[in-house]
Amino acid sequence: MSDPTHLSLAEARDALKSKQLSAVELAQAHIDAISKSRALNCFITETPEFALAQAQESDARIARGDARPLEGLPLGIKDLYCSKGVRTTAGSRILDDFTPTYESTVSANLLRDGAAMLGKLNLDEFAMGSSNETSAFGPVVSPWRRAADPDAKIVPGGSSGGSSSAVAARLCLGATATDTGGSIRQPAAFTGTVGIKPTYGRCSRWGIVAFASSLDQAGPITRTVRDAAIMLRSMAGHDPKDTTSVDAPVPDYEAAVGASVKGRRIGVPKEYRIDGMSAEIAALWDEGVAWLKDAGAEIVEISLPHTRYALPTYYIIAPAEASSNLARYDGVRYGCREQGRDVSEMYEKTRAAGFGPEVRRRIMIGTYVLSAGYYDAYYVRAQKVRSLIKRDFDEAFASGVDAVLTPATPSTAFAQGEKGSADPVEMYLNDVFTVTVNMAGLPGVAVPGGLAANGLPLGLQLIGKAFDEETLFSLAAAIERAAPKIELPQPWWREG
Ligand code: GLN
Repeated sequence: MSDPTHLSLAEARDALKSKQLSAVELAQAHIDAISKSRALNCFITETPEFALAQAQESDARIARGDARPLEGLPLGIKDLYCSKGVRTTAGSRILDDFTPTYESTVSANLLRDGAAMLGKLNLDEFAMGSSNETSAFGPVVSPWRRAADPDAKIVPGGSSGGSSSAVAARLCLGATATDTGGSIRQPAAFTGTVGIKPTYGRCSRWGIVAFASSLDQAGPITRTVRDAAIMLRSMAGHDPKDTTSVDAPVPDYEAAVGASVKGRRIGVPKEYRIDGMSAEIAALWDEGVAWLKDAGAEIVEISLPHTRYALPTYYIIAPAEASSNLARYDGVRYGCREQGRDVSEMYEKTRAAGFGPEVRRRIMIGTYVLSAGYYDAYYVRAQKVRSLIKRDFDEAFASGVDAVLTPATPSTAFAQGEKGSADPVEMYLNDVFTVTVNMAGLPGVAVPGGLAANGLPLGLQLIGKAFDEETLFSLAAAIERAAPKIELPQPWWREG
C-alpha cells in the first residue's frame, strides 16, 4: 500500500480489517513520519516502542478475528493526559520529570479499544494559551504556511497545538486534546482539522492535569468528521472516579455522520458579528449558512445578548480555578524542587522556577479575584454572568433551534511572535467565539470551511444542545461535504 499516513482513521480501520495493511506497518509509517518531522516540535515524548508493541498485539487480535473498535490505530496523546509509566509534563518545567503511576480514564478507554500510543503531544503550559508559544518545551510549528511569506513560522493554535499540528501533518491518525476555553476548536480551525469539545461531563476528567475544573473537557482532533465521531465514542462514558462525569449511554456517533439535516433549525447569533470582523470571516460564515440551507436546514437569526461579557468573565473564572488547582505544585509531591532555607522559601523558589510567565500571570489574576474584598466584586459576579450566558443558550434552544452556527476564530493563524507579546489581551481575544460554549457547558465542534486569501485554513463552529453531539456530527458532516476540500501543502518540514 502507498503511504498509509495518508489514510483517514476510518480508512485505516477498514484497511486493517481487510488485511490490506498490518498494524505494525501502520505504526511504523507514523513512527517514520514523526522522526522526520521533528522540525514541527509536535511531540514532547515519543513512544515508538509502546506503539509497536501495541501494534503487534493488534495484528495478533486481527488474525484471531478478535478486533476491538480502534484496533491498531496509532494516535497521539496530548501531554496533559497522564500516561502510566510515561513522562507527563503538561508543557511545564514544574512537571519535567513526572512519570504517573496511573493512566487517565480517557486515554485508558482508547487503549482498551485497541489504539496504539505514538507519544505525548506538545501543548501550551498547563493548557494556557492560544498559540502553543507558552510551552516550556518550545513552540509547535504548523505545517501550514502563508502564501506570501512562506518563511514565517505559523502557529498551530493552542493549547492543543501539538495535537492539531501532528494531525494536520499526518504524524498520527487522530489525537486527544482538551478544551477549557477553545483549545480543541481553535487549533483545529487554525490547521484545517476537525475538533469537537463534547458536553461538560461527557468525558471523564480523571487523570487529565486540571486547568479550570468547571470548564475543562476532553475531546479529539482528527482530519475528518467521521474520525472525530469514531474517537469520541471510545473516549466518552461515565467514570465513577469523576463525579462530574455523566452516567448516560454513549451513542454511536459514527451513525450520525451521514444523517440528513433536513428541517434542522440553525441559529445564527447576531452578537457574534463583532466590531471589526474581517470581511473574510463574515463571508465564511455566510457560506456556512448557505451550505446548511442547501442541505435542507432552516436558518433563523437568534440573540445571545450576554456574549459580549463572555471573554472577561472567562478570564476571571478560568484563572480563579487555575490558581486553586495549581496550588498543588509545591516542590514536595511532583516534579522539580528548588532548595530554600526553609519550607516557604523552597515553595517560592520552586514555583518561580517551575512556572512560566503566562502561568504566573494566571495565578496572580486568580488569587486576586478570589481574595477577600475582591471575591464578591469579581468572582461571584463572574459566576452570575456565567449563568446569564448559559440562559441565553437555553432560551435559544427552547425556541426550537437545534444548533448554532458561528465562525470558530476571529482570524486565520498568525506567525510566532506576532500576537500577544506586548499585550496578553491581544492573545485572549482569539477565544471570543469559543469561551461561551465552555461557560455554558455545551458541545461545540470546529470544522474546516476553506482557505483564506493568505493560504491558511478557516473554520466554522457549531454549538449544540447539552448531550446532543449527534446533531453536531450530522451538521459538521454536511459542512464537510459542501466546503472546498483543503489539501495540505507539500511536506516541506520533513527531513530526508
Ligand atoms: N486560550 C484559552 C486560554 O488561554 C483557552 C485554553 C484552553 O482551552 N485550554 O485560557
